[in-house]
Amino acid sequence: MRTEVLVVGSGIAGCSTAIRAANRGADVTVVTEATSPDDTNTGWAQGGVARRAPDEDAEVFIDDVLEAGGGVGDEDAVERLVREGSRAVDEFLVEEVGVGFDTNGDGFDLVREGGHSTDRILHDGDATGRAVQRALLRRLGESDARVLEGHTAVELVGDRGVDGALVADTDGEAFVVEAGATVLATGGVGDVYGRTTNPEGATGDGVALAALAGAEVSDTEYVQFHPTAHAERGFLLSEALRGEGALLVNEDGKRFMPDRHEDAELAPRDVVATAVHETNRDGQAYLDLSPVFDSTEFAEEFPTAYDNLTDEELESGRVPVAPSEHFLCGGVVVDENGRASVERLYAVGETACTGVHGANRLASTSLLEGLTWGLRAGEHAAENAHEPPAVDRESDAFNGEMPDGFVDAKFDRLQNVMWENAGPVRTEDGLREARAELQRLRGEVKSYARGRLDPELYALRNAVLVGLLIVEAALENEETVGCHRRVGTPAED
Ligand SMILES: Cc1cc2nc3c(=O)[nH]c(=O)nc-3n(C[C@H](O)[C@H](O)[C@H](O)COP(=O)(O)OP(=O)(O)OC[C@H]3O[C@@H](n4cnc5c(N)ncnc54)[C@H](O)[C@@H]3O)c2cc1C
Repeated sequence: MRTEVLVVGSGIAGCSTAIRAANRGADVTVVTEATSPDDTNTGWAQGGVARRAPDEDAEVFIDDVLEAGGGVGDEDAVERLVREGSRAVDEFLVEEVGVGFDTNGDGFDLVREGGHSTDRILHDGDATGRAVQRALLRRLGESDARVLEGHTAVELVGDRGVDGALVADTDGEAFVVEAGATVLATGGVGDVYGRTTNPEGATGDGVALAALAGAEVSDTEYVQFHPTAHAERGFLLSEALRGEGALLVNEDGKRFMPDRHEDAELAPRDVVATAVHETNRDGQAYLDLSPVFDSTEFAEEFPTAYDNLTDEELESGRVPVAPSEHFLCGGVVVDENGRASVERLYAVGETACTGVHGANRLASTSLLEGLTWGLRAGEHAAENAHEPPAVDRESDAFNGEMPDGFVDAKFDRLQNVMWENAGPVRTEDGLREARAELQRLRGEVKSYARGRLDPELYALRNAVLVGLLIVEAALENEETVGCHRRVGTPAED
């Protein structure tokens, strides 16, 4: 198969890229593992999409993003996110794609989340991602882009640059898609940790494929842990609940955030995640929802939370919480048009490192980033689209079943090592131990994968490589900053 623009992934970043490139006249093919809107991180987003509030000075929003990022973020990129991204929300997401965000008598119903200095987040109840993902898929379906659902990109192909991908379907067939431009939009890395808010299948494929193709990858030590996942059942309790007044308390019912930060429960995520993690060492942290019950129509405004909580939790208002892997701030290094350091390769969305998030991501800026860079990459790839060269790569078929439990057992090992040593708090010894174990694991998976083409095995290979990239970056960076917390280093003494 040949195409001008190949987009891998169908979350907000992939859909925005594909719709824009198709509308600019390019021949576009989307290859996506997803078979339903619920298979993407985008579909699971709860809180919303931040955009510059009416009459707000853009500098205020820019400062909020840079401050959350611990001063590590790229100012030009943040400025682009705020100025251009805010326009894209109105002109593309709302007007062109038709996302119906909640309104009140004055226009959009804007809410506030941790680290934001004003109400500027558009939402659809607490299931914003579902509304965004469905509308994008509808619009993608109306475009001329060809969409191959249930297909996995397992390798990038090409000499001196990327000329497409080797793609496998669920029936064991594999084929090469030759492409003039290849855009990786494969989302997050939750499966590298196991304890995650991401849907299953978030194995960081784009980061691994780009790294294997020789592209620069950076800032992978900055893994954001969401502070308030359910401690036992893992689902996310959105930041918007704290925006509406939910409090963090210890086992004795005492609030612990006011002593940690002047913004208390609305402090940046790394501050809240560390506080929850440390509170859980001596007992259990709880999210106290009673103020939200008092101030809102809870079931209507937070249907996702309402559906996931037990009767007992709804009655007491106390929900046990723990940090959980949520978002990779770094990734494939890209320029202002989403171009990676390898010819004809792009990366967008959570896969990319645009410089926007620095050492930590401000809440509700990830959908905005995927949208902003997705549209730019779509535009750029379409303008520069050319006939792909013929690729000399065999399209192997699957050969052989995995022995029972092989992939699961290796994933368990990877996830245990990562959580213990490269989780919310990291030490040099732990990171060294993790690196040695991951190198062993990588060798085992590689030798098994030789000559076999199985998407599950490739996902494991990718996840192990991403784990190594996280650990190596975390070892190299001794400074505690943003969501990268090193203890026992000079910075902590
Ligand atoms: C529970 C939760 C709540 C969140 N809430 C918010 C929020 O309120 N606001 C906000 O801004 N952000 C939020 N985020 C973060 C945000 O949702 C994600 O960062 C963002 O959606 C990523 O978009 P994406 O397009 O890069 O990736 P995704 O939406 O994850 O899409 C990735 C796509 O790539 C496909 N794919 C993966 N690997 C392959 C492969 N090898 N071959 C083919 N296809 C592949 C997947 O099937 C999927 O279609 C939340 C995340 C979670 C998990």
